[in-house]
Amino acid sequence: MKFLMFGAPMAGKGTLAGMLSEKYNLPTISMGDILRNSIAQGTDEGLLAKSYMDKGEMVPNEVVCAMIKTRLAKPDVANGFILDGFPRTPSQLEVFVRENITDIDVVVSLEVPYESLVSRVVGRRTCKDCGYIYNTSWNLGYKVCPKCGGEWSIRSDDNEDTYKTRYNVYISETLPILEYFEKQGKVVKTIGDKAPEQSYTNMMNALKNSNIPGMKEFLEGGNK
Ligand code: AMP
Repeated sequence: MKFLMFGAPMAGKGTLAGMLSEKYNLPTISMGDILRNSIAQGTDEGLLAKSYMDKGEMVPNEVVCAMIKTRLAKPDVANGFILDGFPRTPSQLEVFVRENITDIDVVVSLEVPYESLVSRVVGRRTCKDCGYIYNTSWNLGYKVCPKCGGEWSIRSDDNEDTYKTRYNVYISETLPILEYFEKQGKVVKTIGDKAPEQSYTNMMNALKNSNIPGMKEFLEGGNK
């Protein structure tokens, strides 16, 4: 099953993708993580990407399209994946369709009101070692990663000022592409306004009740 996670920044795409990935043993592919890795490695593309990401703007298509094609060419995606963050603009959608970059079976659209999104921004923590995402607003008191004991890092674009740009870019550039997948009957909407466990349950119920071909069989297959 090939999933595309869709929703505003801070909607919980990475968190729910991680939970889904653990349960169904599918790789997660996050465009933002790919870009952050290239920044960490100090590549030329990473350096260029950072200048856009720090402002909350979109990284140029040449960079992201090349990176996603390389990632999707790896063998671990053969049985499906959970994609987050591509395509993200009408011009990326155009490349996606024209170059037949991959097919998508289902688009999970997370609906979260703006006030909740913005309240999550300053609390996000990411494990430096395993990438686990935590939010201090969950009030679980984790000083280090509960999965691996790694230290937390705070994303440089997780501040309220940059968030406003990221959200506006989402509304003007990303949201319009949902229509393309809606016309294909591939969109499953779910409320992502709750703590992770509840949002995950909402998402799974929405998937169970959807008419996506092959979904029921996939869900019944459980942990592979
Ligand atoms: P995310 O981790 O999904 O919140 O993405 C963080 C940042 O990475 C975004 O604000 C953009 O600057 C950049 N980014 C992620 N995905 C894309 C994309 N498909 N196209 C252009 N820039 C992207």
